[in-house]
Amino acid sequence: MNDERAEVFFDALRMELPEYINELEKEALRNEVPVIRRATRDLLRYLLRVHRPRRILEVGTAIGYSALFMKECLPPDARIVTIEKVEMRLREAEKNLGRYDKSGQIRLVKGDACDVLKEMAERQERFDFIFMDAAKGQYLHFLPYIMEVLELGGILVSDNILHDCDILESRYAVTRRDRTIHGRMREYLYRITHMDELETICLSLGDGTAVSYKTEERHEAEKT
Ligand code: SAH
Ligand code: MG
Repeated sequence: MNDERAEVFFDALRMELPEYINELEKEALRNEVPVIRRATRDLLRYLLRVHRPRRILEVGTAIGYSALFMKECLPPDARIVTIEKVEMRLREAEKNLGRYDKSGQIRLVKGDACDVLKEMAERQERFDFIFMDAAKGQYLHFLPYIMEVLELGGILVSDNILHDCDILESRYAVTRRDRTIHGRMREYLYRITHMDELETICLSLGDGTAVSYKTEERHEAEKT
């Protein structure tokens, strides 16, 4: 299938968004910030509108683009917590959230997601929707904490499951590091697709996206 033609075709069908979202997207692309693709945006919007979560967690804020996009898909009483560790990105995110999240639906947490998630798990915080969009090589380390803070019936969306490395990062990446990321991502995907507590579908949409639903443990007969 010609993905590019489909992309243009689908673009014409997309719903109107506040103008600032498209401005932020342009700014991100200009500065090589690896923000979500349009198709990923569509998927997030669909899941948020159908599942209607109230407590959303995002791992990997960058400049706040996807967090603000998700906010636009949610009712005013929904809350988003988003984690970022890079100082330069945090400054941009703070600026953008200050400007476009006037009602304060989004809370930016500074720090390494590994530490932040661990603390959240210890405090028994719970989320009904998690968007995983940070360093691909770390998803595997985050997973135990993610499973703790994800509620039963909650959804986990994992972005960038197909690409070994973002173009932006590959410049600095050495082959050995690439291999490590590959291995860890493969292991992550194996885990989320074989875990009893998750029902997962892997999609080649965008940069590759997995959607997982946290279920009760299934009976033997239901397992495939
Ligand atoms: N979700 C954003 C894009 C995120 S890009 C959007 O679509 O708009 C991935 C971000 O995750 C980067 O800004 C990177 O600094 C951050 N990140 C990577 N590893 C992290 C970690 N361990 N803890 C916190 N942030 C991390
Ligand atoms: Mg991404």
